[in-house]
Amino acid sequence: MDLNSPVAALGPIAKRAASILKSVGVLTVKDLIFYFPYRYEDFSRRVPISQTREGESVTFVGTVEKVSSRRSFRRRMTLIEAVLSDSSGKVTALWFNQSYLLKALVKGTEYRFAGKITKSKFGTRMINPLYEPLAGVNSAYVSPFIPVYSLPKGISQYALRRLVRSCEPLMRAIPDDLPEEIRSKYGLMRLDTAVIKAHFPLTHGERDGARRRLGFDELFKVELAMAELRRLRSEKIAPAVPFDEAATKALVASLPFKLTDDQRRAAWEGLLDMKSGRPMNRLLNGDVGSGKTVVAAIMMLNAARAGFQSAFMAPTEILARQHFESLKKIFAGQPFSVALWTNSYKRAFADGREIVCANKTESAGLADDIAAGRMSVIIGTHALIEDALHFSSLALAVIDEQHRFGVKARQLLCSKGGIAGAELHLLSMTATPIPRSLALTVFGDLDLSLLRKKPKDRQVIETRIVPASRRAEAYAFARREMETGRQVFVICPLIEESEALEVVSAEEEFARLGREDFAGLPLGLLHGRMTATEKEDTMRDFLERKTMALVSTSVIEVGIDVPNATVMCITGAERFGLAQLHQFRGRVGRSEHKSYCLLMPTTDEAAEKDRLRAMVELRDGFELAEKDLFLRGPGEILGETQSGFPAFRVASLGDVELIKEAKQAADEYLLSKDSEWRSGGVTEKQILKEAGLETVHLE
Ligand code: ADP
Ligand code: MG
Repeated sequence: MDLNSPVAALGPIAKRAASILKSVGVLTVKDLIFYFPYRYEDFSRRVPISQTREGESVTFVGTVEKVSSRRSFRRRMTLIEAVLSDSSGKVTALWFNQSYLLKALVKGTEYRFAGKITKSKFGTRMINPLYEPLAGVNSAYVSPFIPVYSLPKGISQYALRRLVRSCEPLMRAIPDDLPEEIRSKYGLMRLDTAVIKAHFPLTHGERDGARRRLGFDELFKVELAMAELRRLRSEKIAPAVPFDEAATKALVASLPFKLTDDQRRAAWEGLLDMKSGRPMNRLLNGDVGSGKTVVAAIMMLNAARAGFQSAFMAPTEILARQHFESLKKIFAGQPFSVALWTNSYKRAFADGREIVCANKTESAGLADDIAAGRMSVIIGTHALIEDALHFSSLALAVIDEQHRFGVKARQLLCSKGGIAGAELHLLSMTATPIPRSLALTVFGDLDLSLLRKKPKDRQVIETRIVPASRRAEAYAFARREMETGRQVFVICPLIEESEALEVVSAEEEFARLGREDFAGLPLGLLHGRMTATEKEDTMRDFLERKTMALVSTSVIEVGIDVPNATVMCITGAERFGLAQLHQFRGRVGRSEHKSYCLLMPTTDEAAEKDRLRAMVELRDGFELAEKDLFLRGPGEILGETQSGFPAFRVASLGDVELIKEAKQAADEYLLSKDSEWRSGGVTEKQILKEAGLETVHLE
C-alpha cells in the first residue's frame, strides 16, 4: 500500500468510508492525508475537577465511581450517568443513547475524560464527554487537540479520525518538495511532521507550526505561479508608447479640477509601463468616485497621440454610455476620434460632433472607421469582442469593473487587431477595494496602482441603520428630500436563488411605494430582466429628473452617476456584503448636496448585525474590504464566479505576513533557478494549470 492506494485499501472499516469520502474528492490515501481538520477541540487544558469552570473545555484523569442508566420517557432516550472523581472533587457525566457504556466504563478504573463543563443547580456536569482508558495507547480519541473535520454525510468524526490515524505510518513517507533552503530560511516544519501534527497536534506550538507549513505550501504554489506569469509577460513585447508631455499637460490643464497626487502617480506608473516596450499589466484600484476614468484617459491620450488605438470595455451598456459621455468631454478638441460600440449604441465623436448610427449601413461604416484606424478610442461592452469588429493598431485595453476577466479580454481583443508580434497593454480598473492580501495572491500577477485619497471636495455621506419598525419615518424623510428637488434610490433585497423572484419583489415594492410612502411622486423601476433599451430609458428619465425615485434591484451597483441623487435607501441591507453596500453608498454624495445612506434591514433583529454597524463606522472602502474579507471570505469581494480562485484549505487570506513570506520565497526561488528558466516554451495556461489555478483567467 502506498500514498496512491485507494482509501478502501486501508482495511475493513475503510470500505464504507471510501464511498462516502468520494463525495468530497477524497479518493486516495494521499487525499485523505491532505484532508485536514478545519478546527480542533482544544482539550489541552488539564485541570483538577474542583477547578473547572462553567463553559470550559477540559481534560482530566478521573476514576469511575458509579455508572447507571435510566430512561427519559418524555424524550424516549436512554441516559447513562456516571460519577467521576479525582482527588479534588467529583463531576457527573451524562451520555445519551449509548447503553454500551454501562459495560464499557468499569467502576474503579481510571480514564482520561474530555468535554465541556456545565455548572447549574444540578451540580457540575459534562454532557457526552469523550473518554479513553488511561492505560490505552491509541489516543485517537482523547488527545489534547481533537481534530474536527468537515464531514460528508454518513461518516462520524470518530470514524474519520480513526481512519486518518491509521494512515500515520504512510504520512511518514510523504516526500517534501520544498527546497531545504526555503524550509530552513523561513523556519518551516518538515512536510511529514507537519502533516501528522496537523491532524494530531500535542501542543499549541505543534498545531500552529503544522498549519504554518501547510499554509505556506499553498501560498508558495500560488506565488510561484504569479511570479512566473509576471516573468513570462515581462519577456513579451508590447508597442512602445512614447510619453507626449505637451499633450498630457494640456489635457490635465483643460480639466475642471486639479488631479490628486494618487491620480498623478497612477497615470505616471501607467505611462512608464507603456513606454517600456513590455506589456503593462496594471490594476487600477480606487474607490467609487476616486477618479479612475481620467487616469485611463491620460493613458489613452498618449496611445492615440502615438498613432495607436485603445479599447475601453465596460460591463454594461449604461456604463459604456456614461464613459463615452465623459471621454467626449475630456477629449474635446483632440485631433483624434472616439467611438462607442455596444449592442444598442453605435456612435462616433469626431471634430467636435457626435454621429449616431441609425441603421445597419451606418453601423457598418463605423466598423470600417474602426478597422481603418480612423477611431482612436473605442468604448464598448463585450460587444467589442463578440461582434465581427476589427482594429488596425490596438495597443491598449482598458477593462472597467470586470476583475479577473481582464487578462482574457486582452487576449481576445489583441487577436482582433493588435500590433503584429506584440501584446496589448492592459489597464484593469476596479472600484472594489482590493485588500492587501488579495492584491498579493489573487491579483499577484498584476502591478497595482492605488487611488487611496479621494478628491478633496468629496463630502461625508451620513449613514444610518433604520430598524424595520421605523422605516416609514425614513421614507418620509426621503420624500421631503424629493420635495426639495433631490432624488432618491431604493435598492430592493438581493434574492440569490432567483432573479425572477427578485424582480417580482422589486415590482411589488415599486407599486407599494407608489401607493403609499411616495404616492404622487414619479417613480422609475430598474431590474435585470429589462432589455438594455428599457434600462437605458429608465436611467435617462431618472437623470433628466422625469422620475424622482428609482426603485432598483442590485443591477444598479456599478458606476452609475446621477449627481442630483442624495438619498440611497437599501432595503434588505443585511443580505448584501460590505463591498456591495459601499458601492451602493457611492451612488450618492456626488454633488454639493448633503447625502444620506439609509440601511434598511428586513427585521429589527437584523439591524444588530456587525456588518451594518461597520458601514456606519467606516467610510474608507479599503477598510471595509478588509473587514468583509474577514467576515465573509474572498468570494464576497471577488464575486465567486468571477474569481475562479480556488479556496485554500489551510492558508488564510487574513494572514498577510505569511503571504508576504511566501511571495518573497517564490521570488527568490525563481531568481535562483535563473539558468533553468524555461522561457519560450511555456504558456500562461500551463503555468496556471501546474499551480492548480487553471480556472483563474478563464472567466
Ligand atoms: P470612478 O473612480 O468611480 O470611476 P470617476 O472617474 O467616474 O470615478 O470620477 C468621479 C467624478 O469625479 C467625475 O465626475 C470626475 O470628473 C470627478 N473627478 C475626477 N478626478 C477629480 C479630481 N481630482 N478632483 C475633483 N473631481 C474629480
Ligand atoms: Mg468608473
